[in-house]
Amino acid sequence: MKIPFLIFFQIILIQSVSAQDKKYDHVLKQMGSRFDISVVASSEEKGNKYIDIAITEIKRIEKLISSWDKHSETSKINHNAGIKPVKVSKELFDLINRSIQVSKITNGAFDISYASMDEIWKFDGTMTEIPSAEAIKKSVEKVGYKNIILNDNDQTVFLKHKGMKIGFGAIGKGYAADKAKKLLQEKGVRAGLINASGDLNCWGKQPDGQSWKAGIINPLNKNKIYSWFDIDNQAVVTSGNYEKFIYFDGKRYSHIINPKTGYPANGIVSATVFAPKAELADALATSIFVMGASVGIDLINQLKGVECVIIDDNNRIHNSKGIQFKNIINSKKN
Ligand code: ADP
Ligand code: MG
Repeated sequence: MKIPFLIFFQIILIQSVSAQDKKYDHVLKQMGSRFDISVVASSEEKGNKYIDIAITEIKRIEKLISSWDKHSETSKINHNAGIKPVKVSKELFDLINRSIQVSKITNGAFDISYASMDEIWKFDGTMTEIPSAEAIKKSVEKVGYKNIILNDNDQTVFLKHKGMKIGFGAIGKGYAADKAKKLLQEKGVRAGLINASGDLNCWGKQPDGQSWKAGIINPLNKNKIYSWFDIDNQAVVTSGNYEKFIYFDGKRYSHIINPKTGYPANGIVSATVFAPKAELADALATSIFVMGASVGIDLINQLKGVECVIIDDNNRIHNSKGIQFKNIINSKKN
């Protein structure tokens, strides 16, 4: 879905530059989202070269996972739902496999086969009324990660039922950020940050030696940061924000669907997850919307190296065990 530019206030990055190595920035629109790429390099020429490498990589991933592009591997899988298994690249096979692992640990809250619901719920402003209970019921029958059949030997993916679909809306941007980071590290780039509309991964330090920083917005004053975090060689992903909801009859619906009910999740305004990889953080941030704050925190507390901060509908802040807030500005704490 198209993402309003306002989301970028969700994560605000401190900019800084030093004498020798400099930070070079580039903004591009990809996967329907804004990507901010920053690399630290010794010259503008090198900086631009690295930025181009990242752009090419992000575009390559979009081609692989897009369900809009009818020639993508993902579209082939969807097209053959209920018909036959489709042989795919190892990269896509592995991504689907990992997505299913996340479904398992989240007890089905995260489910790439949510995608058949895209025909029912539209969050791009074109929906004029809430879909009927019957339409939702019919559509949700096609959702279920257990019906995504992977065959390791043949490297095939088969969606068991006609009308089933997979989509990477909740994990793709995180995956792209990880892959761009990995590639740049392999090219010897000593520091950088890839921010895919609030899904970011970084490595190294800024030119002045400081860590990269991410801020969580203060729910009571959206122009202010509630707390800053140093982020060192890790990913931070925020799902949802104050703009990405639709209202019907005064009720607020998010664009994240509960795969069990077929209805959009509510109760949470934003979920920020810290993890070694943006892919996992992205998937978990989405899952938290469906699981709710307390189940979400319980899960995150069991995962090593993963932390989260959740803001609920009542502007209350919930956090996992390892979170330490700095410079807290007035807000309700749960
Ligand atoms: P954001 O765009 O705020 O970063 P997310 O990463 O949470 O959002 O992804 C939301 C997108 O994920 C939705 O627009 C939809 O494409 C897809 N999606 C919705 N519900 C689910 C779900 N339960 N599991 C997996 N993907 C989902
Ligand atoms: Mg996500």
